[in-house]
Amino acid sequence: MGNKQGRHMLKWRNNEKRCNQRESIPSQQPVQADIYLDKTGTPDPADDPGVQGVDISSSSGDDHQNDTRDKDVVTAPPDYFYVFDCKAIDHGDHEVEESDEAGSDLHSRKAACSKNPGHTHFIPVASFTIDHLPEDYRQDAIFQLIQLQARLTVKISTRCVSPDRPEFYPDSDAPYPFYNRCGDKFTRNGTGMIWEVQKYTPEANIPCPCAQCLNSPDPITSYGYVRIQTAAHVVFDEIEARESACFFGYDSEDGNPVVIDCLSHFDLDIANDESFLSCYVHDEDLVNALVDAMTGYEQLCGIVSEVYWPYRLHARLTVIASHPHGCSKQISLGEWTRMNRMYGSDNVTTYNYTTCTCPGSSGAYVYLLGKPRRGFHHAHKGTNSYGNCSGIGID
Ligand SMILES: [Zn+2]
Ligand SMILES: [Zn+2]
Repeated sequence: MGNKQGRHMLKWRNNEKRCNQRESIPSQQPVQADIYLDKTGTPDPADDPGVQGVDISSSSGDDHQNDTRDKDVVTAPPDYFYVFDCKAIDHGDHEVEESDEAGSDLHSRKAACSKNPGHTHFIPVASFTIDHLPEDYRQDAIFQLIQLQARLTVKISTRCVSPDRPEFYPDSDAPYPFYNRCGDKFTRNGTGMIWEVQKYTPEANIPCPCAQCLNSPDPITSYGYVRIQTAAHVVFDEIEARESACFFGYDSEDGNPVVIDCLSHFDLDIANDESFLSCYVHDEDLVNALVDAMTGYEQLCGIVSEVYWPYRLHARLTVIASHPHGCSKQISLGEWTRMNRMYGSDNVTTYNYTTCTCPGSSGAYVYLLGKPRRGFHHAHKGTNSYGNCSGIGID
């Protein structure tokens, strides 16, 4: 770790505004938006091959031979680009966790886990502190971003398998998860992340269109519309969405999550393993907390992105918040080890990473340090020949 005085500080000017906007987030420290790259020179994105573009057929790492940045934080990898053809993609194994209908066997499944016995590298949300971050990334903006990523993470349980699941992944002979159990009723558990929250107030006087309110003579007018992203293999279509429940705030085993049953499905991309769900939330406190979390998360993504995205080939922190074994939410930290770029495309990618996951983590958002908020995201898919892996996303 270099001398802190030698670090190049990048400051943002509107810190006070950000702090004020985020005061309503419970248990959230004000945003400390000063953020720095631990290097001695002035950041120059043109130095970085990821910005200029490189011949990805060459993965020798020679592009970094003349890199003068501080090597104690910027470790140029010898190999990191791999090209994949969609028809030859290594789909590997999913990480959906099965359970009985009530999920009462999930703790025993967790205790019997052979992938990460003891789960020592998973951090319960309430225990997560800035000191868990690797020293090179120990900054308030990154710490708070991860807290908000966790706050926007939900558990998803599904009670049936759609008869419309395909036999194979598109353009592949890899079997599609649970095809052999199409039409069966049993419970599976995965993870999702909230990507949009719209708050409706009585002033707007728009009745909540959820099934409960549609059947009520007095539908509520104060509610939230929430969109959730997960993996297609977690919740495949409307048939499965209707038999799915979303657990908000399942942060500890003795917590009291808000559970919304019967979701809606509004978009599916089988090839990219992405699925989008929605629901209506009546709990006003939850809606307000989600709106605040989303606002803060977008701001912090922008702040961190400005500094780190140009250096994404070097600063590889990869963060996942998920519900391993369908149990309470855990944060795991690691680094990506392979960036797999689709043949013929500069920015369509999948990643492999050291970040711990277990069955139940399928569908969790994979945060790559500096990734901008907007865009086509990488959801955790499972494990393949190269370790834990994401679905397809856009950098
Ligand atoms: Zn496990
Ligand atoms: Zn309603």
